[in-house]
Amino acid sequence: MSQKVTVETYQLVRSKRSTIAVEVHPDLQIVVRAPRWTPLREIESFLQDRVVWIQDRLAKARQTLQSLPALTNPGEVHHRGAVMQWPYSPSRFATWEKAEAERLCLDHIRELLPGLGVHGLRYNGLKLRRMRRRWGSCSYSGIIVLNTLLVRVPDHCSKAVVAHELAHLVHMNHGPAFKRQVVELYPDYLAANKELDQWTSMLLSANPNGRASKSIGRGERRELRLLG
Ligand SMILES: [Zn+2]
Repeated sequence: MSQKVTVETYQLVRSKRSTIAVEVHPDLQIVVRAPRWTPLREIESFLQDRVVWIQDRLAKARQTLQSLPALTNPGEVHHRGAVMQWPYSPSRFATWEKAEAERLCLDHIRELLPGLGVHGLRYNGLKLRRMRRRWGSCSYSGIIVLNTLLVRVPDHCSKAVVAHELAHLVHMNHGPAFKRQVVELYPDYLAANKELDQWTSMLLSANPNGRASKSIGRGERRELRLLG
């Protein structure tokens, strides 16, 4: 029997915490969080005990990334679930994309809002923003904030996010009444929302500055030998 050894790089982030934890991110980054003074061999043995879990997570994340339409050439971007070649100067892209996102989201809102009946009156406007952690949010004042990157996912997925946030105009929680409301508003919600999960890795990887996520924190790059 031969043992396969693979080496993965992980980010070791030490902080004022009391336990060790390992995270596998959708963009395949492995982040290990540990207390400041835990010896390295203790961290490494913690990781070796979780090799199967880490490999399983990596395989799932790889599968998800592969299921998206592949971007193979420079200048290619996802647009409404497909691959588009941007033919103009890269400096003009962000402005164009934000305008496209706004048009698309307003179309979804116009289509779905009447389904809320009188509650639709609580809708108080749309803001588009690049966000790294969420697709959308809804405030008590009725302002819906949506992620500009929604224009990159298929239309039925962006519609699911809009339906979700509009349903918050009626229910400011994720309880059973909220769930009924969102499906009533958009009957394909559950399937579309599940498909959206595949695209969520994009929020982290689509970083215009190419910098590591702030939430990961500063750390040390180390290597992890996975014996499988
Ligand atoms: Zn919500």
